[in-house]
Amino acid sequence: MTQTQPVETIPQPRHAPVAVPTAGQPYEYHRRPLVEPDWTRFPGWRHVTRDQWESAQWQRVNCVKNIKQLRTVFGDLIDESFYTDLEADQKALATMSMLVPPQMINTMVPFAPLTTEALLADPIRRYMIPVASDRRTDWPSHPYASRDSLHEHDMWVAEGLTHRYPTKVLAELLSTCPQYCGHCTRMDLVGNSTPAVDKLKLTLKPVERYDAHISYLKAHPGVRDVVVSGGDVANVPWRNLEAYLMRLLELETVRDIRLATKALMGLPQHWLQPDVVEGLERVARTAARRGVNLAIHTHVNHAQSLTPLVAKAAQTALDVGVRDVRNQGVLMRGVNATTPELLDLCFALQGEAGILPYYFYMCDMIPNAEHWRVPVWHAQQLQHDIMGYLPGYATPRIVCDVPFVGKRWVHMLTDYDRERGISYWTKNYRTSIESADLEALNKRYAYYDPIDTLPAGGQQWWDDHRDD
Ligand code: SF4
Repeated sequence: MTQTQPVETIPQPRHAPVAVPTAGQPYEYHRRPLVEPDWTRFPGWRHVTRDQWESAQWQRVNCVKNIKQLRTVFGDLIDESFYTDLEADQKALATMSMLVPPQMINTMVPFAPLTTEALLADPIRRYMIPVASDRRTDWPSHPYASRDSLHEHDMWVAEGLTHRYPTKVLAELLSTCPQYCGHCTRMDLVGNSTPAVDKLKLTLKPVERYDAHISYLKAHPGVRDVVVSGGDVANVPWRNLEAYLMRLLELETVRDIRLATKALMGLPQHWLQPDVVEGLERVARTAARRGVNLAIHTHVNHAQSLTPLVAKAAQTALDVGVRDVRNQGVLMRGVNATTPELLDLCFALQGEAGILPYYFYMCDMIPNAEHWRVPVWHAQQLQHDIMGYLPGYATPRIVCDVPFVGKRWVHMLTDYDRERGISYWTKNYRTSIESADLEALNKRYAYYDPIDTLPAGGQQWWDDHRDD
């Protein structure tokens, strides 16, 4: 008789539905065409017409920014206890203020009766509208969590321009988005201040910031790849964004441009506006003529978020000449950190929405995020378990963004103390703040698993060192 090892599992979040084991293949693929959930099921949107729903302006005006507005949408379907829980979170724990477009709210509990219990268990709600009872009380933050956990601000070479990898830069054009995600890794800069976090402010005028970026790129011809981000580029007035992109395209050294916009999913109506589509076509044509790879990178974390409107926005970008639309999701407990959830999402992206499943990032070590984060070993297990189902080119890599290092595939660690949940990583380039550091390539850099996922001995060790 063969002995099998018990399968290791991570502690499940409160409100999570219980998974039932099945026989046959670990994952069964079934094609599921996308469906736009009926927004009129919400009392507050009972009379909203299709024209209104598909208007970017209507979506922006009707974004939910506070509890009062959320109550108006949900009517009396949700218990008072939910709002009390939400208020407790907003007053003391939230690192992002509330901003949720109707499009995203409509993907919460999309096809079942809306109840408080269903809303609490919903994966989109869990990261877009976090409540206090979601968070851990033993270790809400890891002791090594920090506001700018990837040190992007430390690596600014001009305001908003992070030079971390040798050939690539991240250009943050602005610090706002059409939606604010509870787990935002740029919580240091992006969005409005909350009671828990006083945000860093951009100080230059946009035009001065953009000039500084272009000057830096002119002076550094070794940079060939620009991720144009924020915030979300959907909040840059189109005329300004187009002008910035055309200036990038005049630089012969720039060969890749990637536009970062979660709004392709959160507010697809934006990317379907005629002036935006026409402008995108002009930029895509210029990029093609100059041999530059222009792509859109979006951020979808769950299959529920994909609707026909999202697919239409992605297809429209491809139709006007954008070379590719790719997804970079974030792995989170209670949202998508199981094999079926990841594969459902990848098949919906790849097969129904025309979006390439590209990366899943481990959630970064920001404050109050321990209930979302997963340990490295769990990410490795997920990477193992999703292999072989999707076409190879559409099988996403699960990566850990290691502070001071950058993206590493989750199997690339050099050492791993499982007891204390510390993984060690190396790198093969210097970031912009280490140009004179001879030891940078010989060091080992640490990443930390959430403490509640550690064995008892490891949890005790952290407890004993709580005040160190
Ligand atoms: S869209 Fe991106 S930058 Fe904006 S809040 Fe969400 S994760 Fe942060």
